[in-house]
Amino acid sequence: MDRYGGVEAGGTKFVCMVGSGPEDISAEIRFPTTTPAETIGRAVDFFREQLRSGPIRGVGIGSFGPLDLDPASPAYGFITTTPKPGWADTDLIGPLRELLQAPVVIDTDVNTAALGEYLWGAAQGIQQFIYNTIGTGIGAGGIINGLPIHGMLHPETGHMRIPHDLEMDPFPGICPFHGDCFEGLASGVALRERWGVPAEQLPVEAPAWDLQAHYIALALVNQICMISPQRVVLGGGVMKRAGLFPLVRRKVQRFLNGYVDRDEVKSEIDRYIVPPVLGDRSGCLGAIGMAQHWAGDLGPGKQ
Ligand code: ZN
Repeated sequence: MDRYGGVEAGGTKFVCMVGSGPEDISAEIRFPTTTPAETIGRAVDFFREQLRSGPIRGVGIGSFGPLDLDPASPAYGFITTTPKPGWADTDLIGPLRELLQAPVVIDTDVNTAALGEYLWGAAQGIQQFIYNTIGTGIGAGGIINGLPIHGMLHPETGHMRIPHDLEMDPFPGICPFHGDCFEGLASGVALRERWGVPAEQLPVEAPAWDLQAHYIALALVNQICMISPQRVVLGGGVMKRAGLFPLVRRKVQRFLNGYVDRDEVKSEIDRYIVPPVLGDRSGCLGAIGMAQHWAGDLGPGKQ
């Protein structure tokens, strides 16, 4: 079977894989994100080693951003204005393209995670869905008419504005650009800053989780009203907290208040707002799927 590479370029860790799908991964490595030179160098070393056992037909990268995704732009494949120290204006695809002499394609980490779930996971065959990752940061991607969402740039729903009741929650938010945008209020970093302990150390019954579900549900209601997704997938470390999914589902129902007259949101919401099936692997597997899609073997609209 043809081999492809996938890279999930995250703000805290990188994952690299070689294979053709969830049941066929021949090599996988994870390492922390440090400086661009060191981190990209480790990815290049991994694929150089893998080339000893045969060709790699293409590599997909799902990265944190913002990214330049315009294939006609000289900065295609660059991370652009990220506040992450040292990573602004970093070329992610050049070093791999040089090594592999094969196509290297890139999309946002959330769009590739969405693609992974579309091809092999929680959204198989669903033409319209959104994928949110609620972790250290917040991002969303998705599939519309069977294709990852692109436009002028790519969705940045982590920075959408949601109602912020300063009496209920005086925390000003942590986004360096907006303060109390969705990510500023509800990311893992925001949770830690607001409550003084990492999210995973907050007790299950803490009021933090009700507030967290409140913000997530507000953002989801906006997305549901805007895009009318047929499913909503919620991934990321924060969503692993037991009990958070039911809280979010209940609040989404309460905020919609019966207006969207569909069983999905009324009686079947447990199947409408769901965790990713591929777990932490959706991003990297989706990157492999994207590389395959480029080569025309598999992918949205081609199954
Ligand atoms: Zn923001």
